[in-house]
Amino acid sequence: MTLKGKTAVITGSNSGIGLGVARELARAGANVVLNSFTDRDEDHALAASIAEEFGVEAKYVKADMSNGDECRALIEKAGGCDILVNNAGIQHVSPIDEFPVDKWNAILAINLSSAFHTTAAALPVMRARGWGRVVNIASAHGLTASPYKSAYVAAKHGVVGLTKVTALETAEEPITCNAICPGYVLTPLVEAQIPDTMAKYNMGREEVIKKVMLERQPSREFATVEQLGGTTVFLCSDAAQQITGTTISVDGGWTAL
Ligand code: NAD
Repeated sequence: MTLKGKTAVITGSNSGIGLGVARELARAGANVVLNSFTDRDEDHALAASIAEEFGVEAKYVKADMSNGDECRALIEKAGGCDILVNNAGIQHVSPIDEFPVDKWNAILAINLSSAFHTTAAALPVMRARGWGRVVNIASAHGLTASPYKSAYVAAKHGVVGLTKVTALETAEEPITCNAICPGYVLTPLVEAQIPDTMAKYNMGREEVIKKVMLERQPSREFATVEQLGGTTVFLCSDAAQQITGTTISVDGGWTAL
């Protein structure tokens, strides 16, 4: 499986799943464009280290995925886009009647609207290049729900819907669009939920991981960023040409329950 010569743009890729996906795409030969809103020296250094490790081209482009214009500009600044991975995402946990409106708006913008903007900008580029893959990192919460995650669940269900529409609008072209729905992966996003959950249930860290998080995941193991990257590489391969408009769960059986 080689993606040599393809250019992949991965939103929100300076940590966690996005970085793991970027590394696996680079391992498969793709040139990669990393993104976040931070623009630190270490973000550029990450791109340089991927270029060196895998012998591909890699660069970092700053763009805030809460801003539609910056989402579209990311595709332009990438200098080509054969593979688009919409991964940027944030989380906030709160009952609906206490949910801060600014958090609701930010989650909808970063987790859902950014994918609309980047996809809108990338499809003409893919059409001009005669090939394309859009991979949206949704969530098990794009297929199921949990209390207190209203914005996240709504956004991720929206991502699954957007995935289907994108697939239908490109069905007769050599372009596919699919969503990956991860269960729990131990990234900074999940780490950030652990202290509050420890306080809420008066549990230690390991107990929270075992009894609250992995209780929901029948494999009782976290998925890894490498596994998410490998699934993305598969969806970008020729073997997946007829796979479009679907969701692939990488969730240890969560959504089978
Ligand atoms: P993470 O916090 O490690 O990564 C989030 C990424 O998004 C970071 O690179 C961050 O810089 C970027 N980001 C945040 N706000 C941004 C903005 N305004 N503009 C540009 N980039 C921004 O978390 P993660 O777990 O790797 O999450 C990645 C994706 O996977 C998210 O969409 C998340 O919803 C999804 N996901 C994660 C899990 C999990 O268990 N970790 C499960 C299901 C889905």
